[in-house]
Amino acid sequence: GDAQCGKIREAIDLLSFEGEPISWERYGSGHINDTFRLVCRDGEKEHLYILQRINHEIFTDPVSLMRNIAGVTSFLREKIIAQGGDPYRETLNIVKSRDGKDYVTDSDGNYWRGYLFISGATCFDKVRNPDDFYQSGKAFGHFQRQLAEYPAEELTETIVNFHNTPVRLETFKKAVEEDVCGRAHLVEEEIKFVMDRADEAGAAMNMLKEGTLPLRVTHNDTKLNNIMIDDVTGEALCIIDLDTIMPGLSIFDFGDSIRFGANTADEDEPDVSLVSLSLPLYEIYTKGFLEGCQGSLTQAERDMLPMGAKLMTFECGVRFLTDFLQGDTYFRISRENHNLDRTRTQFALVADMEKKWADMEAIVCKY
Ligand code: ATP
Ligand code: MG
Ligand code: MG
Repeated sequence: GDAQCGKIREAIDLLSFEGEPISWERYGSGHINDTFRLVCRDGEKEHLYILQRINHEIFTDPVSLMRNIAGVTSFLREKIIAQGGDPYRETLNIVKSRDGKDYVTDSDGNYWRGYLFISGATCFDKVRNPDDFYQSGKAFGHFQRQLAEYPAEELTETIVNFHNTPVRLETFKKAVEEDVCGRAHLVEEEIKFVMDRADEAGAAMNMLKEGTLPLRVTHNDTKLNNIMIDDVTGEALCIIDLDTIMPGLSIFDFGDSIRFGANTADEDEPDVSLVSLSLPLYEIYTKGFLEGCQGSLTQAERDMLPMGAKLMTFECGVRFLTDFLQGDTYFRISRENHNLDRTRTQFALVADMEKKWADMEAIVCKY
């Protein structure tokens, strides 16, 4: 609305865009931040930018969030230059404020940031064919490769315990005990499913603690429309949407992609008989991911990739079930038992992975 346009003007004036701001419009199909495409004119020359209002209700520490993004993008920039790549297209570039900061605030307390606009590339909302999924795996593998030497421990955990499966499990157990909606008796089978796998929940986090799995830079939102695909080559060009970069486990970025991308059914499919792990899709992503990693993963990480997929699926199911028990307060529902349906698809996928475990491991060994 107009009020927000006023604030945009404030933000624009505080950021060091080149030329005169001419026009701006809402852009893209992001769900979290308010994203605008800004056109500035400098004589004959046009400069394009992305301007975003950071959703500070979800990201309560925008300053640390921007420090994470600035750290990672400047590291990537150096790397890309050294490799002879194009640093203006292969990573995000922050437009600094006139006083040298990575963000600005308006008089309503909103946080805004600017990025150079990446032209000649597109974000796709839906996987159009298996090659998109392959490109996506390759892009996130390459992301791991490029950031393998980044000091991940210096990043702020902007969402604390985001993929800490044992902590998620503890929250779940508490929700069962408290049973505030009296729903626990409806989901005895699902509760048993979780408890039968409780010992496994900490498998990856324990290896991190012991030093068997390295701490990595993780993206944590590895969906297709967070990758820009080059319009000419059809290949992944740049990974964007770095709000959730955090220290974590490489196998969890991999695993979450498998969870949502290699399921034969929708995440909220009521008919769980339609849910399964597509081994061809799993293979395609694994191939892309490992090619992108170019040997930067340790043997332990490679060995744990299937477990990453299983744990991310299990954890997601546990979170849906927790929310169902707590009265659907976190995930938005649009029908009765929506979170229960979601729980069941995730657990059906876990069960199918357990059946296909040997195949999942063999596929990792192939690449
Ligand atoms: P999500 O719902 O995925 O969390 P978001 O609200 O965090 O999205 P972004 O993914 O950062 O927003 O940006 C939204 C869209 O804007 C992207 O999908 C992409 O189409 C476009 N976009 C973002 N940054 C750039 C850029 N630097 N150059 C060109 N387009 C961009
Ligand atoms: Mg996005
Ligand atoms: Mg986002």
